[in-house]
Amino acid sequence: MRFKADEIHKDLKNPYYVEWKEFLKRTENWTEEQILDYQLKEIKSIVQHAFKNTEGYREIYINAGITPDDIKTFEDFRKLPFVDKKLIQADLNKFTFVTDDMEYVTTGGSTGIPFGFYRGKKAFARELASKAFLYSRVGWKEGCRQMVFRGLPINTPDRMEFHPEFNELRCSSYYLIPEQMEIYRKVAFEYQPEFLKGYPSSLYLFAKYLKENNKSFPPIKGILCASENLYEFQKELFKEVFPGARIFSHYGHYELAVLAGYCEYTDVYHVLPQYGFAELIDKDGNLITQPGEIGEIVGTSFLMYNTPFIRYKTGDLAVLKGFKCSECGRPHQLWERIEGRLQEFIVTKNNRYISMTAINMHDDIFDPIKQFQFYQKEKGIVVFKYIPKEKISQEKLENIKNRLMIKLGDDVELIMQEVSEIPLTKRGKHRFLIQELKLDIGDIE
Ligand SMILES: [Zn+2]
Repeated sequence: MRFKADEIHKDLKNPYYVEWKEFLKRTENWTEEQILDYQLKEIKSIVQHAFKNTEGYREIYINAGITPDDIKTFEDFRKLPFVDKKLIQADLNKFTFVTDDMEYVTTGGSTGIPFGFYRGKKAFARELASKAFLYSRVGWKEGCRQMVFRGLPINTPDRMEFHPEFNELRCSSYYLIPEQMEIYRKVAFEYQPEFLKGYPSSLYLFAKYLKENNKSFPPIKGILCASENLYEFQKELFKEVFPGARIFSHYGHYELAVLAGYCEYTDVYHVLPQYGFAELIDKDGNLITQPGEIGEIVGTSFLMYNTPFIRYKTGDLAVLKGFKCSECGRPHQLWERIEGRLQEFIVTKNNRYISMTAINMHDDIFDPIKQFQFYQKEKGIVVFKYIPKEKISQEKLENIKNRLMIKLGDDVELIMQEVSEIPLTKRGKHRFLIQELKLDIGDIE
């Protein structure tokens, strides 16, 4: 058989992975009190470590007049200064505790500026186990057949690669053209995937192809969205094209400071408390406590010991929902939605920020368009680049423009621009907005 998986999934051979997953399972039903005890203990331990072993953290804490022994409560911890990408990037070695097994990793970065730091093997194994643990809420387990759509350099003639050690069929997101998607679709009937996994933007193109060409796809249990924000219009299309599949989304980042995912019952992000400590802060650095308010995600990783991230400003935004899920009962911090990274906002002439999550493209009116991308380099002016399926009439184009203008408002000038190609990012993602303006959370009202 062409798709014969290894008997034992590769991750299950990694003791760090297995041990951490067991720990997560064992502590799954922790009460709020148990969670807070654990988090405070982990906070003290990572602050002690960073102070003792990295010059960078020691310096900023001494300058702030705080030593690790001063930290006895969460309030004490909140007196520690924030760190951000710029600070750590400026002198990475000063913020790094060197071990033999560490490796250098870089983030793609929505702004295009790569950010690198050091990660240990244990931290990475725990990261994988934590994600697997979240996926298990929707029926996934190691060894489930999965088709993965990601920005992977795959140089086989059919742009696919089967990895028996993960029972995973990888499909390149760089080649989501109709002929190639047809090959992926056909092979799905042979492989019978239980899950689709990948960038929502790639899965969206694939789902759109299936819908528009009336093509069938074998039934799947779920869609696991990764590495990108999942927009409402994407979710709606997935539900339509893959009936019965649970659409699962999570928020995470390479710095491994915060991980949050949906639960069995609701599409709300539950922050995983054993993984790190998450705070949402307003533009003045104060903690957000009111549901419905938006704040920047500040994370403290319990996993990263080589380059620690303590009160790390991620530049990502979330809307607070509460501190206990009424459906599953977990006493976890809940986020209604991730409002996208700062670079996923359009800025109007009057300085309004419009989140890309607010622009719903799930509408028949957009049918004549094969692919699109917003582009902004000047406040109040947005270019809508689109690839038409076939020639679009002036009338249809006006309809599209009007529909977008309703979302954008009068203080935006919208320029429609037909293009023949929309390039991918270096990591093979299809971005919906290229934002050239440097945005700051302080500007969001
Ligand atoms: Zn829940």
